[in-house]
Amino acid sequence: MLSVRFWGVRGTIPSPGAATIIFGGNTACLEIRADERLIIVDLGTGIRLLGNYLIANDFKKGPIDADIFVTHTHWDHIVGFPLFAPLFIPSSRLRIWGPISSEGETLKDILSMQLAYKFWPIRLTELSAQLSYGQIQETTLDLGNGLIVKSKYLNHPIFCLGYRFEYRGKSIVTAYDHEPFINLFLADPNAPDYDEEAMEEGARVAAEENKKIAAFFKNADIVIHDSQYTEAEYHQGKHGWGHSPYEHAIANIRDAGVKNLVFFHHDPDTSDETLVQREKDYQIKNDGPSSGFLSKLNKLKHTSVIMAKENMTIIA
Ligand SMILES: [Zn+2]
Ligand SMILES: [Zn+2]
Repeated sequence: MLSVRFWGVRGTIPSPGAATIIFGGNTACLEIRADERLIIVDLGTGIRLLGNYLIANDFKKGPIDADIFVTHTHWDHIVGFPLFAPLFIPSSRLRIWGPISSEGETLKDILSMQLAYKFWPIRLTELSAQLSYGQIQETTLDLGNGLIVKSKYLNHPIFCLGYRFEYRGKSIVTAYDHEPFINLFLADPNAPDYDEEAMEEGARVAAEENKKIAAFFKNADIVIHDSQYTEAEYHQGKHGWGHSPYEHAIANIRDAGVKNLVFFHHDPDTSDETLVQREKDYQIKNDGPSSGFLSKLNKLKHTSVIMAKENMTIIA
């Protein structure tokens, strides 16, 4: 069985408070299970709660053993790392995978900087757990026992990887932090430095890159997609920030045969009330009603649209 449990669904910065009780204010952290095998994606503040859960449950059966995949090292994706309880237990075996930075720093270098004494009282070298690190780019990893992980660069201000976990015919894909590839050349033919050839080439490259991302989703059971904004919000000065509107997420999975689209990386300023309403709106926009008789009739071509919520589990 392949499943995902959400321990942090928020983007940018932790956002606890009265307006985020339903969906949660913790930043990115996913617990993926391939039967008994534990995979963690990202080290946002949600990982503190996951760590406590692992100590209370898994640790009774034996040492904690996990592969941790880091999408990238923006704050919201690593800030929970120092508070992950299994780090302080010598029997824990944690293999941390992720991209190298554009400045050539390894993941270990960056986590080590995060645990510099001026920011935190315990250094990386003082952690008890058995830690190992794997630098990856676009690749396929065979983790054994039928578990395959594929990685794909996304469109974000720093190197950021999407992951595709495949296990016994089921698959879960992560595609955040990510925004649509756009044509970087001027599209206005009346602009003084308009270059038609460059414009066409730019449009072709952007479309091709978007197609590659859609191919990465092909027939996935679950795609967890960046959806920080509505289309209207996205066009209000948020191009180039590395995040997608809901509309792009839907367009991206529509022809890919995806069963469940999960909206993820909610903006810290988006309230529960708004997320509840948006979930309803985008379920309808996606393909008509998402429940009841009509949805059963359309089951094969229908994709469920789900707003990620803390503590929610989906089985692939
Ligand atoms: Zn983020
Ligand atoms: Zn980011």
